[in-house]
Amino acid sequence: MNVNAPGYRPHPGLIEDRARFTQLELWNCRAKHWGTDQIDPLDALEPGVALRMNGFQIETVSTLGEMTSNGKLVQVAGLIHRGDRIVQIASSRFSQVEQRFTAAHELGHAILHPNGALLHRDRPADTTGWQKDPTEREADFFAACFLMPGRQVHRWFRKFFLTDRFVLNDDTAFALCTKPLDSVLQRIRSHRDLSLTLARTISYNGQQFKSLSELFRVSPTAMACRLEELGLAFDPRASHRA
Ligand SMILES: [Zn+2]
Repeated sequence: MNVNAPGYRPHPGLIEDRARFTQLELWNCRAKHWGTDQIDPLDALEPGVALRMNGFQIETVSTLGEMTSNGKLVQVAGLIHRGDRIVQIASSRFSQVEQRFTAAHELGHAILHPNGALLHRDRPADTTGWQKDPTEREADFFAACFLMPGRQVHRWFRKFFLTDRFVLNDDTAFALCTKPLDSVLQRIRSHRDLSLTLARTISYNGQQFKSLSELFRVSPTAMACRLEELGLAFDPRASHRA
C-alpha cells in the first residue's frame, strides 16, 4: 500500500484488514499490555493501548475548545498531533463510549493517514451523521471495525437473536417486544429503528443479556450502523411492502 501516492484512498476491505491486524497485534501482546493472557477478547479492543503500541502518547484532557463543523460551532472531541505523536481526548462533555470511539477514530488516522496534517482536530465521531471528508469517513469506518469486529458481532448477534439476518415477522416481533407484529411495526418503521432496537435490547425470546452496545462499549447508534453494514438487520420496509 503506497499511502504517499497523491489522491490515494484505502479500500474499505483494506481498512477492515488494517483494523483486524491491529486487533491481532494487541491480542498477541496481551500478556505484556494487561499482565495476563487470560482476558476476554472484547477487553483487548482498547484504542488507547493500540495507539501506544503505534508510538503515540494518549492524554485525556477536560476540554479541547471548539471548532466549526458544517457551519456550526461544536466541541472538539479529540485531536491527533502527528509531529509530537500525541493524541488528546476531551472528557468533560463526552460520555465514556464517545471518548472511546474518538480514540479509535484517531487510531484510524494514525494507521491509515500517517502523512495527514501535523495537527488534526475532530468533532464527536458517531453522533453528527454523514461526514463529507473521505478521510473522516475512513477513520470512522476503521473505528467501527476496530471496536466491533465483524466476527465477534456476528457471534454475539447469533447467540442473542438466533439468526444471522434478523427479519421482522410474527414470531420475531413477539420474541423482541412481546407484542403482535402490527403493533411492533407502528414503532419500528425504518431500517435504523430496527437496528437501534437490536443494538439496545436486553432480552429476546425470554432470554436476558447485556445489550450489544453495552457489551461492545459503543453507543447504540454506532452499533446500529455496524449491524446494518454487516447485513444482520433486514430493513422492515423491504419485508412488509404492500
Ligand atoms: Zn478525524
